[in-house]
Formats: sequence, structure tokens, C-alpha cells
Amino acid sequence: MSGRGMEEARRRDGGDPLARFRGRFHIPPGTLYMDGNSLGLASEDALASLERAAASWRDLGIRGWLEAKPDWFTYGERLGAKMAPLVGAFPDEVVLVGSTTANLHSLAATFYRPQGTRRRILADELNFPSDLYALASQVRLHGGDPERDLILARSADGRTLDEEALIALMDDTVALAVFPSVLYRSGQLLDLRRLAEAAHRRGIVIGFDCAHSAGAVPHRLHDDDADFAFWCTYKHLNGGPGSPAGLFLHRRHFGREPGLAGWFGTVKERQFDLAVDFEHQPSAGGWQMGTPCILSAAALDGALDLFAEAGMESVRAKSLELTGFLLDQAEARLTPLGFRAGTPREPERRGGHVALEHPEGWRICCALKARGIVPDFRPPQVVRLAPVALYTTFEEVERTVAALEEIVRNRKYEAFSAARAAVS
Ligand SMILES: *Cc1c(COP(=O)(O)O)cnc(C)c1O
Repeated sequence: MSGRGMEEARRRDGGDPLARFRGRFHIPPGTLYMDGNSLGLASEDALASLERAAASWRDLGIRGWLEAKPDWFTYGERLGAKMAPLVGAFPDEVVLVGSTTANLHSLAATFYRPQGTRRRILADELNFPSDLYALASQVRLHGGDPERDLILARSADGRTLDEEALIALMDDTVALAVFPSVLYRSGQLLDLRRLAEAAHRRGIVIGFDCAHSAGAVPHRLHDDDADFAFWCTYKHLNGGPGSPAGLFLHRRHFGREPGLAGWFGTVKERQFDLAVDFEHQPSAGGWQMGTPCILSAAALDGALDLFAEAGMESVRAKSLELTGFLLDQAEARLTPLGFRAGTPREPERRGGHVALEHPEGWRICCALKARGIVPDFRPPQVVRLAPVALYTTFEEVERTVAALEEIVRNRKYEAFSAARAAVS
């Protein structure tokens, strides 16, 4: 089986139209990297734009705000426009700013308006906990009680969410709904359009956390009618640790007052009038607060060029092929050893990573790392693997499966401690 797996992997690598992009990335020496959904790798392009930004600072000092190429003053808006096609938005509907959690706060502060009996926020128990912490604190800021006012939809199997069950919870006590596009643990992709349609029919504002889909799954945020969305750029988008997050705001909301205002959200031409009255830019840019983090954003500039060049549709096509191959191999070779795939099989229901569950998940991850393979671990027992379209080969997927097979068959994980590290 494993011999046939390798043959098949090599055949697919041979026909891969995106193969040429791998050479533009720095693969950490001696590693087989399967963690691009936690921190994407550095590319030549990203490092070059980062160096350009540092050189502008060195050579221009404060003049860089207007004279750097590209200028720093409109950096967030410009990167937003560059990002927009990847998520199906108009250029002025996206800005790159802050962090994912901070953007959720800013958007919830804009859209969560508890009134009368419509006071609740609807989310789900499988969402990334930072989002739930943020939403609970927003409820408290409005004088509510998260126990009562933050509803967490339950998952029937602990892995996935059923859109119909989410829709059934959208009643007239709900003011705001926030769901992930792709679930960070299982990798399930939700049907955003269906959820947005159902929410709007019931007078509910709806936003999506696209942290695990941006750069892996093409979105149509505008046409799917999301009210807002937010995502990280250091995962599938390879912007580097701490690169600014994405914020999408549907055009019909440009006239709203930003919930957390600041001077970088003001109309550009008048920002340096330093007027006492706040007038926000009628675009996602209006949702910026303070001075953009130019050096943190700079690597993303180059990283996004790779997506423009490769095309989001090709990235998705290869990503689906990689995860499909991984799931097929896992099914044949790893399920007999006690693994279970937690990721849906249907292409339209999965994002860019695969969750393999095993009761010894943590120690299996340790054993993978000892072999130079970088997965990540999510409790209670998920080995998370992200073969990334721009830099992972099918052969690497095969080698990962072979390593898992060997580790479990020969109980190699027993050599590792069950105590977990601080970052997994
Ligand atoms: C990674 C991730 C985050 C992280 O938020 P930061 O503010 O960037 O730390 C938030 N939500 C989801 C779903 C994520 O996957």
C-alpha cells in the first residue's frame, strides 16, 4: 500500500501546476512542514517587501508616511484592496488592521445593539475560544450576562456543526450571530450564504471568522451577503508572525458609526486637520483605529503577490486535492490503527486542513516532531495537518502518513511524555 501511495504521490507532484511556487518559500531545513494553518512559512517575496519597508524607514524617516513606495499612510487600505479578491469583496470593503480578536471586538462594538427582547449573541461551542471570550466581554460591556445572552450552539458529534441546527437557533431574541467559516479543529467548512440568508430573514446581523479559510478557500463575502468578517493573515496567507488581520465590512454598512473609533479611521484628506469631530472614511478603512503597524504588515504585501500570481481558484483546487489524498491515505492505512478522520469528506464541506483523531494524539505529535515533521495538536486528541497548496508536495503528505503508520504500529509514541508544552 505504502509503495503505491508513493507512486501516486509522485504522479500527482509531476502534474502539479503550482509546483513552481515551492521554491519561493523557505522550508525550515530538515523539516516537513504541515503547520501552515497555524503559521505560514516565509517566502522570498514576503522577506523582500519586509526589507523594503525597513529600508524606507532607514532612508526616509518620517517622510516615509507619504514618500515610501508604497506609502505608509494608506498601507492598511492598500493591502485591503489587494486582499479583497481572495475573499470576494470590493477593494474598499477590506482593510488590513489589528488582530483577529481586536477586529471582532471592533465589529461587535459596531453591530451588537441589544434592544428590547432582542439582546442575545449566537455563536457555537466549537469556535476558537478567543472569539467566545471577546463576545462574552461584549455582552458584559452592554450590561448583559453571558450565561443568558451568549448562546453557544452545540455540536452533535463534537466535531462539526449542522447549518440547520444553527438556523433553528436564530429566533427574535438574537441580535447578532458570529460563526467560523472553517472550524479550527475539524476543518469543516460552513455554508456562509445559507447562514447569512437565514439570519437576514430573521433580522439578525451576521459575521464570520475566516481565520482558517482566508488563503485556503475562496470566499464571496459580498455576494454571500455577510455583514462583516475578520481573519488572520499569518496562517494560510503567510504574512508572518503578528501580521495584521483582515476586516471585511459589506458596503451597505459604510454609513454606520464605527464602534471603536480612532484617527486612522477618519477621512484621509482631513486626517491631519486634527479636527475635534470624527468623520469616518466611508469604507472598511473607517474601521482602523491608530497608526498602522507598517513593519508587521510589510511581509504580507509580498506574500499576497503569490496569491495574485497563482490565483485563488488554483490554490483551492490543489488544496482540495492534497487534503483528499491525505484523507484517502489515512482511511486506508491509519483507520485500522485507531485513527479517525474528523474532517468532512465532501469537498464543499472542508477547508484547508485535516484533523486526524487518536487517543494518543499528543504523544503521536511529539513523535512526528522528533522525525522533523511539524503538525500541531488540538485537545483533546486531534493531530492537525495542513498540506499547503503553495508549498507542500504530495510526496510529503505520503511521508507524513507513512510516519504516522510507523509511529502507531510500533508504539513509538510511548517514548514521549504525556505532559503538554505551552504552545502546541
Ligand atoms: C487563529 C485564530 C484566531 C486568533 O486570533 P488572534 O487575535 O490573531 O490571536 C481567532 N479565531 C480563529 C478562528 C482562529 O483560528
